[in-house]
Amino acid sequence: MTLPWLEAHQAALGQALDARRLGHAPLLHGPPGLGKRTLARWLVAKMLCLAGDASAPCGICRSCQLLDSGSHPDLFFGRVPEDKTQITVDVVREVSAGLQLTPGIGRARVCLIDPAELMNTNAANALLKTLEEPADQAWLVLVSDRPDLLPATVRSRCQKITIRPPDRQLALAWLAEQSPQSAADEIALALDICADAPLKALKLIEDDELRFGVEVRQVLIDLAAGKAIAPDTAQAWASSPRQSLDWIAHWLGAWLGARMQAHAVKAGDGLPGSCQPLDLARAWQRLMLTRQLAETSVRKELLLGKWLLEWESIFAAGE
Ligand SMILES: [Zn+2]
Repeated sequence: MTLPWLEAHQAALGQALDARRLGHAPLLHGPPGLGKRTLARWLVAKMLCLAGDASAPCGICRSCQLLDSGSHPDLFFGRVPEDKTQITVDVVREVSAGLQLTPGIGRARVCLIDPAELMNTNAANALLKTLEEPADQAWLVLVSDRPDLLPATVRSRCQKITIRPPDRQLALAWLAEQSPQSAADEIALALDICADAPLKALKLIEDDELRFGVEVRQVLIDLAAGKAIAPDTAQAWASSPRQSLDWIAHWLGAWLGARMQAHAVKAGDGLPGSCQPLDLARAWQRLMLTRQLAETSVRKELLLGKWLLEWESIFAAGE
């Protein structure tokens, strides 16, 4: 899968690396769904490729082949251990020690830390030492969706590479190519929901998540219009309560946001014009409470059913 919006980043990073202008610790950051990991893998391949010039990564040298087979001796991963929820100090110590060694294959040693924001405090402190005293021919590549969660001391010692959402037309065209069976309005909606992150939007479409999200929106609109909905709706949604509540939160947030702004009623948002922002805000507040309760052992269909009844009552009262 080629990601056309990353090409400019590849060109810039490649030139910086070839001209030896790239800092020893690039930090690739930006919202999820933009292909940061694809870019990081490419950069790592370029750093390690034996060609060592503008043709890297060549894809054919021993280094490139070892990378493909997942057994490169000069590549280290700073990841969350399987039985943990954070990157621990032991992980950072191990990769830092690995970076001190002479490259086994040829040009460099690289450590990929991902997701960097999941380093705990001790791990981040241990990394600082490596960042301050970089070994020769050693690179630290950090990837993060949330660089704001990294300690400022770590952030300031990295070369920040910001990945932004691509131009909308480019993203729409790419998605249409990846998902030819999807309608244009479906693709546009997925991209809206994902704040223009194409990979996230593609996943939404492929996992059939979008279809469910649209169904949730329709139920909310039908209830607001006083129409009957399928009697087993709450029951059906209770099989995946978190997903259902997330979608309700998404639509409610979008409606509330639009109505709180000056442009008030967005044409075609589907809700009655009489619906007040304060009503939506109260429904939002109740939804947040419902979400908390959904984490307990309370029966989910009752929680969802109650919230839907309350939602319906907002509009019944206005009649
Ligand atoms: Zn190569």
